[in-house]
Amino acid sequence: MDQQQEQAVVDACPTELFIGGKWRAGEGGKTLAVEDPATGTTLCQVADASPADGMAALDAAVAAQADWAATAPRERGEILRRTYELMTERVDELALLMTLEMGKPLAESKGEIAYAAEFFRWFAEEAVRIEGSYQVAPNGKGRFLVMRQPVGPCLLITPWNFPAAMGARKIGPAVAAGCTMVIKPASQTPLSMLKLAELMTEAGLPAGVLNVVTTSDSGGVMEPLIRDGRARKLSFTGSTQVGIKLIEQAAEQVLKTSMELGGNAPLLVFADADLDQAVEGTMLAKMRNGGEACTSANRIYVQTPVLEEFSRRLSERMGALTVGRGTEDGVDVGPLIDATQRDKVKDLVDDAVGRGARVLTGGTVAGGNGYFFPPTVLADVPRDARLQKEEIFGPVAPITAFDTEDEAVAMANDTEYGLVSYLFTNDLTRALRISERLETGMIGLNQGIVSNPAAPFGGVKQSGLGREGGTVGIDEYLETKYIAINI
Ligand code: NAP
Repeated sequence: MDQQQEQAVVDACPTELFIGGKWRAGEGGKTLAVEDPATGTTLCQVADASPADGMAALDAAVAAQADWAATAPRERGEILRRTYELMTERVDELALLMTLEMGKPLAESKGEIAYAAEFFRWFAEEAVRIEGSYQVAPNGKGRFLVMRQPVGPCLLITPWNFPAAMGARKIGPAVAAGCTMVIKPASQTPLSMLKLAELMTEAGLPAGVLNVVTTSDSGGVMEPLIRDGRARKLSFTGSTQVGIKLIEQAAEQVLKTSMELGGNAPLLVFADADLDQAVEGTMLAKMRNGGEACTSANRIYVQTPVLEEFSRRLSERMGALTVGRGTEDGVDVGPLIDATQRDKVKDLVDDAVGRGARVLTGGTVAGGNGYFFPPTVLADVPRDARLQKEEIFGPVAPITAFDTEDEAVAMANDTEYGLVSYLFTNDLTRALRISERLETGMIGLNQGIVSNPAAPFGGVKQSGLGREGGTVGIDEYLETKYIAINI
């Protein structure tokens, strides 16, 4: 990829706030820098919104709500469908922009654009399938009319690890349901969202439906909007720590909330598993997005008879991955998002090694620019290592042995998180028995990826509230109204 091409993609991306269908500078012309994590250099500056800018965005969303809710569902669906088509046509440009601001290899960025576009296609189809019902009351006299209506203006907050898909997963159903919104992307990866707003405008989205606010002061800008009361819904994807704070703020006005929070996914490999499948699945579960995914396998538990063989094969695969700048050919793993994240991953590895874990591959940070960490496999990881409890968010696979099914389930459930678990076994009854006992919202059975726009994504325990995607995804943006009829 040549530098001119990269610069052209950055230059073609909007950098201002998108409010009421217009691009405008932030109050006082303040800006914030967007960095390329592979080089540590600044790509461009984007508007840095103030609380007043945030409030202007909410005003715009509130002003547009009634007309938007009255739009024909088919029209809303067709705007989503056109968004899907535009994203598919422009995948190369969108993927390059994402790689530049986030670091993941181009192939993964293309995969994310396709995944994000699929949410628009899926919800284009759901927009025209919002159902209601008419029912005879049990006493035979009255009638119940049940209808679904848009919840109202929404506040959407997204993280940096999937700069397009996490937004698409919220914007798609909100648009389909007839809600307007203010979205705040992560300050480290604002470009993909600004570009998406431009593209949705081209797809026909009316002014004020989608408002984008980029800021270095997330709390200062979003808290007044959450406490304002005119927005009726808060949907957040990010860390559990921030999610808890936002639930508290949302409680004041009793906002409907959806929370996609942190994970600490266990991955269980039983001795009866197909080892090729287990290694392949572990690579996907661990290395998608370089390990910077809420669904990333954080703890790998392997039954003793296959422990050595599995560990050897996984180390070989991890050790063979090429680390580098995501724009370069042949790169499998990009940099981590910033120095803080790289140092945290290193601390977690050092802590595990200090408690007796063995490094099978990787483990040490090479010098140079960019926030790179090598794919790492650790064996004999003790239960008290910090990375058994904390989200690693990096390319580190910690392996621990187990003997019995009960022991595996107890270790898997020994966490406050409950997003996803992975299970590799060829024994059907064991698979079903364990699946029922695992305390997670999703399970990958003999496969390392669960994300799919047509399926309900979400967690239990401190991993979240609500589901995104699938036929239930739109429910998060609808209220049920019931009319009691005296016939
Ligand atoms: P984060 O620090 O919680 O930030 C997420 C978003 O919240 C960003 O836009 C951030 O803005 C914003 N934010 C931070 N503090 C805020 C506040 N006080 N008020 C309002 N907004 C605030 O999380 P992250 O480090 O970006 O993302 C990684 C986390 O997301 C991991 O825990 C991961 O598991 C989780 N995640 C979960 C899912 C899921 O579906 N369950 C999917 C992806 C990621 P700034 O950028 O300005 O800080």
